Amino acid sequence: MQKTDSKRRGQHFLQIPGPANMPDRVLRAMARPLIDHRGPVFARMTLSILERLQCVFKASGPVIVYPASGHGAWEAALVNTLSPGDRILACENGHFAAKWCEVAARLGFEVERISGDWRRGVEPAAIEARLAEDGQHAFKAVMVVHNETSTGVVNRVCDVRAALDRTAHPALLLVDAVSSLATSEYCHDDWGVDVTVSASQKGLMMSPGLSFNAVSEKALAAAKESQTPRAFWDWQSILSFNERGFFPYTPATTLLFGLDEALGMLLEEGLECVFARHARLAEATRRAAGAWGLEVQCLDRDAYSNTTTALRMPEGYDADVLRQTILENFDMSLGKGLGKVEGKLFRIGHLGNFNDLMLTATLGGVEMGLSLAGVPHEQGGVRAAADYLVSSGSVEE
Ligand code: PLP
Repeated sequence: MQKTDSKRRGQHFLQIPGPANMPDRVLRAMARPLIDHRGPVFARMTLSILERLQCVFKASGPVIVYPASGHGAWEAALVNTLSPGDRILACENGHFAAKWCEVAARLGFEVERISGDWRRGVEPAAIEARLAEDGQHAFKAVMVVHNETSTGVVNRVCDVRAALDRTAHPALLLVDAVSSLATSEYCHDDWGVDVTVSASQKGLMMSPGLSFNAVSEKALAAAKESQTPRAFWDWQSILSFNERGFFPYTPATTLLFGLDEALGMLLEEGLECVFARHARLAEATRRAAGAWGLEVQCLDRDAYSNTTTALRMPEGYDADVLRQTILENFDMSLGKGLGKVEGKLFRIGHLGNFNDLMLTATLGGVEMGLSLAGVPHEQGGVRAAADYLVSSGSVEE
């Protein structure tokens, strides 16, 4: 008989910045027998999901659902709106922004990057200056990641929109809201976004497997002109099936059961309360970091993320060794440093189905891990976070 490791008793702490802890209600909703995906019960569920997704994206136009990870929705946003060889201006200040650029380049689009140092939000003035030089309107799209999950840095989408408006540039605005949706204020319509890309496994409190394109009228018009071959990703055929609550292929029924429940939970809590809860837990996390004397990757306090805090290791210490120590001793997974910050930082995910005690336990695991791994730090991070949580009050009655 294999012996159970005593440190694996109790609940695993999945504190990566998504996929995150799923609510029992959502898990139970998914543990149900399948239904006919061409029948009336399915159609009612789909129509209700699509309507509530519009509330979450704050979009008056359609939201398209794919049975795919965020990468699929990245690709869908590009192939529906652009034609082969089209030029894109991309804000690249993190790992996911860089990956989206790679996807676009592999699809045959010409990507020009405005690169940042991965520690601050994108500079709208740099985007504006580049757009102003493009008198011929060669750029057909501008791409930006709202919440860069790899660094915990938020890019101000409305400032990017303002840069397009000030230069009267007609390029489409394509935004990745994979880890900001349902954790932070996001306004597809009001911010003038043409395609918002998102996915199920972050603020939506769902498993990975579904992703989304919220689309503006301008994006729909661009899709009519786009010459890029597409079949599965094609918005038009999905939209015509969606009108009656169906899909042009066998949909991921179980994932839609989960999404249906998760949307219900988010709207019951109220989006404003969801955002406030995330902001408060994020601030408490940064208070802990300050007490430990660890540096937050994001240098601009106006660009702090609600979902992820990336903490830099002292010089000469490897973040992955710390993560391994914490996993072995406390059965907690933290996010690793990705791309050029691999080993240099670790990420605490504080998103989704998450509360004060889950956060203080998470921070307790980090603090004990820092001691066990011999990482130089001050004590008192958990205390600082707890003091903040107490002083900032609990969830409103
Ligand atoms: N964009 C952001 C901001 C992400 O955080 C991620 C994944 O974590 C992705 C895109 C890619 O999504 P997926 O891994 O679901 O393909």
